[in-house]
Amino acid sequence: MKFTPVPIALAQCSKTFHGTRVLEPIDLTIGAGETLVLLGPSGCGKTTTLRIVAGLETPDAGGAVFFGGDDVTRLPIERRQVGMVFQSYALFPNLTVRGNVGYGLKIAKTEPALVRKRVDELLAMMRLEAHADKAIHQLSGGQRQRVALARALAREPRVLLLDEPLTALDARLRDTLRRDMNTLLRGLGITTVYVTHDQAEAMELGDRIVVMSAGRIEQIGTPREIYYRPVNRAVAQFVGTINRLAGQWQENALATAGGCIDTPEGFAHGGPPELFFRPEDARLVAPERASLRGVVETVSFLGERTRVTVTGAAPEALVIDVAGRSQWAPGSAVGIEIAAEGLIALP
Ligand code: ATP
Repeated sequence: MKFTPVPIALAQCSKTFHGTRVLEPIDLTIGAGETLVLLGPSGCGKTTTLRIVAGLETPDAGGAVFFGGDDVTRLPIERRQVGMVFQSYALFPNLTVRGNVGYGLKIAKTEPALVRKRVDELLAMMRLEAHADKAIHQLSGGQRQRVALARALAREPRVLLLDEPLTALDARLRDTLRRDMNTLLRGLGITTVYVTHDQAEAMELGDRIVVMSAGRIEQIGTPREIYYRPVNRAVAQFVGTINRLAGQWQENALATAGGCIDTPEGFAHGGPPELFFRPEDARLVAPERASLRGVVETVSFLGERTRVTVTGAAPEALVIDVAGRSQWAPGSAVGIEIAAEGLIALP
């Protein structure tokens, strides 16, 4: 199988349903072979954006969609050469696994020998050979998801579009399939747009992540940029857990660090800075060893780590992750040491 990935560009694409604008005009480029993840809470416009790329929705007047040099804005989905996987998989219940995977090739009147060869290749790629002649209802959720992927890839699409493909699966399976999906997408090198509200999925799968909220793009960046250099509080709070500092300790830290703390673009236009840090960027020490002190409130043992909340050190309880084996008693006084590179300044 051979995929010829194309770059995608959305120019000023907005969408209005019955007089309500659910997507503000967005500009977005996706590199050839890149996996771009659209991440955000329910209703923020991720699926609408994906459907505009797919050709299932037309953008409002003035918006345009390009695949490479082709303006595909007016082309329906069947003429865009896209493969799509929905959350529900939408498999044909009356066809076998083989029938589902080969369906698109058959209706395109592909020669039977080629259909067979292509389907065999896809079944092998998805480790479904042993299930080729089963009916869909005989498959597990994870297997159905792989059939849906195989079906989406059968016609060697230029673009792969995935809408919450792992959401219907239970948590343990989701972890495994996320890893499989990562290997698969890297191996295929196909331009992929992936919609999810799950930040772990976004982090693991995205070459870049687009964080959306209320029909707008809040930030576009690599997973590391989104996590360590969020541009605002909405992004910082949506991706991972973040702690807010305040008061004298924060002022001292800002004064000491001077220009050393990374600040996002446009920072100068915001209000006074506030400092934030991630739970894993701090350590708990004896109270006399740190200038930031508090009292342990809760201790949750999570196996590979222990999550401790500390009150009295900042306006809200601080969340600190320590090694799984380390033990802290609720009610005890502690000091908090924050790694300098872990401080995030936000307007
Ligand atoms: P979810 O994860 O819940 O699917 P989302 O981020 O993908 O959320 P969209 O499905 O893009 O969000 O929906 C954005 C907004 O547009 C929502 O308020 C939704 O109700 C509305 N919307 C989507 N499709 C239509 C439609 N065909 N007609 C009217 N409103 C719609």
